[in-house]
Amino acid sequence: MDKIMIKNLEVFCNHGVYKEENVLGQKFVVDAELRLSTRKAGRSDKLSDSVSYGDVSRLITAEMKKQNDRLLERVAERLAEAVLLQFPLVRSVCITVKKPWAPVMLHLDYAAVSIERGWHMVYVGAGSNMGDRQAYLTQAQEALCADGWIRNFRAASVIETEPYGYLEQDKFLNTVFGFETLYEPEELLAKVQELEQNAHRERKIHWGPRTLDLDILLFDDLVLEREDLIIPHPELTRRMFVLEPLCELNPYGVHPLYRKRFREYRENLGRESIPE
Ligand code: AMP
Repeated sequence: MDKIMIKNLEVFCNHGVYKEENVLGQKFVVDAELRLSTRKAGRSDKLSDSVSYGDVSRLITAEMKKQNDRLLERVAERLAEAVLLQFPLVRSVCITVKKPWAPVMLHLDYAAVSIERGWHMVYVGAGSNMGDRQAYLTQAQEALCADGWIRNFRAASVIETEPYGYLEQDKFLNTVFGFETLYEPEELLAKVQELEQNAHRERKIHWGPRTLDLDILLFDDLVLEREDLIIPHPELTRRMFVLEPLCELNPYGVHPLYRKRFREYRENLGRESIPE
């Protein structure tokens, strides 16, 4: 990906753990590396097709002076968020905040924190088979759309499907949501679990009835295996009620681990379910 770079932007402000730092202030030096495609601007020669490094520098300066933080980590996080929310063309940003006068009573060039943050493309499977099923899906959709860290939200058509696992239960309504987000995987898991809680979800039977079930299916091309979070979702390739809406949103999507298109899984699964 192309880059626009800002190097050694100096800002005098008051971040730090020590009281003196908050009162007297000191010099901070910021680097910002914006990742985006500059192709369009490169061909058109129009600033409106790109991002103005002057505007970004002014935003960073204002953001640095807006409040006093204790940690460089916090400063860097706020700068990355501000740049990503203010300049939609920027896919990701690397921010380095340097403190050349760090009060450590030793000689050093600077102490610094460097972070990379960006928009992630995410697909979430949604299902409901209790109460007003459509209302639960709509509530989840509205909550996600209203979230400031989510953009370009799309929902696939809602389909009605037979229950799986525990069969003595009502039919499901299923869909898939696709969106971009600034949340990291664990944060997104917490977010979808909060939405499930809000829908008064009670789990009495494994794979049993639920007001709202939200599963993170895909998170960029990430492959993650943690006790509480597995990405891509392990059942993704085996469930028609996931593959069908996923293929609607992302017809040529490829499984990040097996490098096979989702539509191939869908076609194979369709064949398996036809009786001999
Ligand atoms: P269920 O609601 O039946 O889908 O299961 C929820 C549990 O699965 C939670 O405890 C999660 O921590 C765990 N889990 C593992 N991977 C995922 C994922 N990709 N999306 C959502 N929940 C997950």
